[in-house]
Amino acid sequence: MYDDEVCGQWGWSRQPAGLDEMDEFKCLLLACQPVILSEGSDRLMWSLDKENGFSVRSMKSEIEDLGNTSDNFVLEWNNWVPKKVVIHAWRVKMERISVMVELVKRGIIVSSAICPICEEYLESAEHLVVSCQFAQSVWCIISSWFKISPFFAFSIKDLLELHRFYQLSKRKAKAFHAVCMTTVWCLWRVRNALVHQGKPITIGSVVGEIKALSFLWVKNRGKNAGLTWEKWRSFNFML
Ligand SMILES: [Zn+2]
Repeated sequence: MYDDEVCGQWGWSRQPAGLDEMDEFKCLLLACQPVILSEGSDRLMWSLDKENGFSVRSMKSEIEDLGNTSDNFVLEWNNWVPKKVVIHAWRVKMERISVMVELVKRGIIVSSAICPICEEYLESAEHLVVSCQFAQSVWCIISSWFKISPFFAFSIKDLLELHRFYQLSKRKAKAFHAVCMTTVWCLWRVRNALVHQGKPITIGSVVGEIKALSFLWVKNRGKNAGLTWEKWRSFNFML
């Protein structure tokens, strides 16, 4: 004992030999330096609040400080598309779909993590829906269909908030939001058809599916009885 601290002596069976062992020994000494042993019995401590121990409050505060809670994104609900489509959009935003990059992260062996559509870049959720050349071409056609200036999205969040930034009536903005969610849904569906069934995909067929599905949903779920396919297809309608 020395000033309430317990001191000890190393009891090596042999001295470190060679440079590697000497380096390891120095690292060990450095790691032990801050450790102060006392005579009291061991007890568990909560490092975020050493005096009061564990509390949810201290944990929450630490997580908030680390900035890991969220990026403040709140997905706007849209009841003109089925729930599964809204939830899917949220999962894509949160990167919770089984794209190749996510499978690899979870230790699942895949033949390749490259995007199966463009075969150029790693397949992440964001790549599939935002930056893949195929997706960009689809979004370009969608913008021209809705008679809005072409946009360049940097993230999935941008795509899901696009409807707020154009001069559209409230119901047309809601229809556009529904179309954006339908597009995210369809891009994932055709990707899966390609990967699991080898079905070739074309920009025209995806856009056709987006228009047809969104027409059914906006007309029926949005109670827009007067909406006809011709009007929808040419974006010549009042909602
Ligand atoms: Zn791609």
